[in-house]
Amino acid sequence: MPQPSPASAATSFHVPSLITRIVDGRVAAAGAGHQMRIVNPADESALTVLVEDDAAAVDEAVRSARAAFDTGPWPRLPLATKRRIMGQVRDTILAHAEELAYLDCLDTGIPLWDIRGRKMSRIADNFQFAMDIANTLSGETYQQNEQYLSLVTHSPVGVAAILAPWNSPMSLASMQIAPCIAFGNTCVIKPSEFTPLSVFRLVQLMHEAGLPPGVVNLVNGRGTVTGAALASHPGIDLVKFTGGTATGKRIMAAASGGLKKVGLELGGKSANIILEDANFDAALTGALLSIFSNNGQQCLAGSRILVQRPIADRFIAAFVERVKQIKVGDPLAPDTEIGPMAFREHYERVLSYVDIAREDGAQILVGGTRAPGFDKGYYFLPTAVLAPDNQARVCRDEIFAPFATFLIFDTEEEAIAIANDSDFGLVGYVWTQDVTKAMGISQRINAGTILINTSMVREVRAPFGGFKQSGIGRDGLRGTVEFFTEPRTTTIPLGPVTMRPIGTGQAPS
Ligand code: NAD
Repeated sequence: MPQPSPASAATSFHVPSLITRIVDGRVAAAGAGHQMRIVNPADESALTVLVEDDAAAVDEAVRSARAAFDTGPWPRLPLATKRRIMGQVRDTILAHAEELAYLDCLDTGIPLWDIRGRKMSRIADNFQFAMDIANTLSGETYQQNEQYLSLVTHSPVGVAAILAPWNSPMSLASMQIAPCIAFGNTCVIKPSEFTPLSVFRLVQLMHEAGLPPGVVNLVNGRGTVTGAALASHPGIDLVKFTGGTATGKRIMAAASGGLKKVGLELGGKSANIILEDANFDAALTGALLSIFSNNGQQCLAGSRILVQRPIADRFIAAFVERVKQIKVGDPLAPDTEIGPMAFREHYERVLSYVDIAREDGAQILVGGTRAPGFDKGYYFLPTAVLAPDNQARVCRDEIFAPFATFLIFDTEEEAIAIANDSDFGLVGYVWTQDVTKAMGISQRINAGTILINTSMVREVRAPFGGFKQSGIGRDGLRGTVEFFTEPRTTTIPLGPVTMRPIGTGQAPS
């Protein structure tokens, strides 16, 4: 059974006692806004206090971004200057990687080693990567006939609202902020009200690194208050949202008034198909990683594990044995594999799915309770259930937790049908040693990313996004250009042109 980890020896850093908005490069004073206590999910202690931004505060932030875009230097800076500043941002993040990782860990409960080792370099590199795309962005030319030449150039769109979730606050915020500003846009970012700490520090550091004021502004608060005011603000030109599907629908409705450009990166309930001829050990480790990484709180989790009948009993038994060995504990401890759920309401929702699973006839194979040995904190035992069929709610709903659901199938056709019988379409996993079979199945799964014989690899240049209710639009090289720039077609004659003599009394010929 998992045991509480010993007291951590991780270096601690200063935690700001108040989280307020950052507008025009300045951290705002507390003001009289609604205050929220931000809690450490590992021990339920108070970490800091967030001061919520109301519609007036959001308006102030949007005005700052608007001024920076309409009249400020940022969209007009030479590429070389922008590149230098983005490089400084990257270097500053790397120089403060320990501190940022610590803050993110305290806030989210994600193991520190994971944020420090896997995420921080990616977060810093996002700024370099986005600038590389902007730096090499070229236009197009068209020539329908010899008389006219048309040029297509890319302009920034304007002011973006970036709404980010709590499961990986800095990674997901930086993944959008970086391309947004690299192409010359400005933005207002709102992190999740449950995990505001690391993004607050990140935005501060971006200014310390030399980002001009107004280019990136930060507001804080609940989605229904601050987020809604931001998504519907008339000064916003585009809304990039990463979060739940239900919220995505609300955001789209809010943004529709001003016909804003909307990009949605939403939820998933991805099928992980394990065929009888898979490399058993690799598929086992891969299945464990794709549901239990990041405390199970990840959009691309392989949360429906579909196993072919001849290997099902053996595979499920081996999976359960491994789950029993997973170390649940203090996210600061170096040997912790799964930390606490990020906040109380989420933890309680996750627990409720154990009863829902039972009600629907699923069998609890392992876990399904609070992790023993903890007086405080939102610790949930890694869990696996066997569902009676794909209609069970544990197969339909995104639980967003270390909660795996098994289904057993007989034929490939059946596996494909089950994989596609979902409102979501973010990722699909296939495990088999038969390459032809793998390719055939992969091309019939309706999901934006297919991973064959691997748990989780994100090729950052390739499109990433969802089919169906998993989203609209794509991240990646081309996707960010499409979202964060507007193409402008300019047409010019290449010599004297003859125009119809309208209004001269001459008959058109
Ligand atoms: P969420 O939808 O509750 O919140 C996301 C953000 O939207 C938060 O900042 C929240 O305050 C804000 N928000 C909530 N209601 C709003 C409203 N009415 N108007 C404007 N803003 C509002 O999502 P979450 O619980 O923070 O994150 C988990 C979800 O995110 C999961 O469904 C997960 O799959 C998804 N996700 C998707 C991706 C992806 O790339 N596809 C990546 C990570 C997470």
